[in-house]
Amino acid sequence: MRAFFIINTLLLSIILSFSATAQETDEQLLLKSFHSISSGDISDWMSELCSPKYNGRLAGTPEYMASAEWVARKFKEWGIKPAGDSGSYFQWFDQPFTVVNDIGSLQLNIPQKDGTTIVKSYQAPADYYPGMNSGSGEVTAEVVFVGYGMTAPELNYDDYRGIDVKGKIVLMNRDVPYKDVRNPEYAKWVKYCYHQYKVENAARHGAVGMLYIDGNSANPNISYIDSMIVCGIGPVPLADIFAGLGKNNSTVTAQIDKSLQAYSFSTGKIMTIKTNTTRHTEGRTCNVVGIIEGSDLVLKNEAIIIGAHLDAVGNAGGLLVAGGLDNASGVVDIMAAARALTESGIKLKRTVVFLFTGGEETGLRGSKLFVASPLFPIEKTVMYVNLDMVGNGTGLALSASSSCAALTQYFITANNRYIHRPMKVSADEGSFYGRPRSDGLVFLANGYRTIAVYTTDGVKPVWYHLPGDNETAVTPEIMEDVAKLIYLAFTEIANADPLNY
Ligand SMILES: [Zn+2]
Repeated sequence: MRAFFIINTLLLSIILSFSATAQETDEQLLLKSFHSISSGDISDWMSELCSPKYNGRLAGTPEYMASAEWVARKFKEWGIKPAGDSGSYFQWFDQPFTVVNDIGSLQLNIPQKDGTTIVKSYQAPADYYPGMNSGSGEVTAEVVFVGYGMTAPELNYDDYRGIDVKGKIVLMNRDVPYKDVRNPEYAKWVKYCYHQYKVENAARHGAVGMLYIDGNSANPNISYIDSMIVCGIGPVPLADIFAGLGKNNSTVTAQIDKSLQAYSFSTGKIMTIKTNTTRHTEGRTCNVVGIIEGSDLVLKNEAIIIGAHLDAVGNAGGLLVAGGLDNASGVVDIMAAARALTESGIKLKRTVVFLFTGGEETGLRGSKLFVASPLFPIEKTVMYVNLDMVGNGTGLALSASSSCAALTQYFITANNRYIHRPMKVSADEGSFYGRPRSDGLVFLANGYRTIAVYTTDGVKPVWYHLPGDNETAVTPEIMEDVAKLIYLAFTEIANADPLNY
């Protein structure tokens, strides 16, 4: 009996010491990989993705594909398995694209009393930005202001009501007059905020040109219509169009926003827009998908997905936007976290999916494709985490859907324990509707628990869709910490049993 007791005690202490060692080892493993995430690698990968050889990674182009192949090679090198079509890393879809051959031109034609015309020419990109999905050609016509360019009978709102734009150039603002993104009412308006809709609606009403007050930056997210010449417009030509009318765009749109009543009018100004583009209808592009398969027989059927768009806005006639902050930063953060997760030696019970979407900038096409044919059923998906523009600043922010408020705790704990950055956490849908052109909203609207990770308190200027957005537009130190946060939180979430939703 006594011998049995001794053996039992011995066995128990062996088991106890073994599990104690195992625990220590797990912590050691966790920290070893944690410290292997370096801003040096992050900077190198940023420079690679911002390299001119990828030409701004426009979805559909061969240059985008070259960047997708580079990322896939990294996944392969790190032992992350392919989860795309036919055993590859790539999930393919059609993506026609437009090459902008030169920067074109924008002119104001001012008729004089003596019958002559004074021409005022504008400069790109300060005054205008060539339409990146514009038809090719030249149009000279009167400019008609059409508010937000939307026709919504169910909302009793129509910018084209009672105004003839046939053969004219329409001038319009981005977004919609209803601004309260946190109000459920906004859901009725959101479909009219999309650029593609606006250009299609202009063409439906017979316009032949479109001047878009869209931040005067690269925008391949408009519908290509052969007969429609499009260009983004900056403050100088905008002021010239309103000159002498006794109003300006700010006061007019403020009035529209307040009343939710359209207010459109002919400006009497004649402008000429010239574009030089080549349409490629044969374009194809892809998402890049890799997985770390879960090690637990049951829990491996549950997936945690993290994604970032790999595509950027391309190169308009020499105006190259390398897409550094938007969104090589998200891709590189995930790469660094992915390598640490696969190399840490800690077995992950659940499956982790890494998704780099293509065609985000051309209309959220990659994320829509992914949710239409998901790798894991939605009820087996823990959550989707989206990274878009995560590399400028000193603070961290999580915008979570209300459905995964509890899951944010894993990120908060990781930050408190190991990273110690200021971190803001919100759990409501409003922030997703406030960024309707981000992949996060696609997942949220399709019923996924969704978290968007951001960096805050920017320390560098943000060159949104402008040539300044290259590898110098990010701060590698915060990117290192985002990657570490993802790595730590995903390790915890993959292995939590039970998992707190
Ligand atoms: Zn983006």
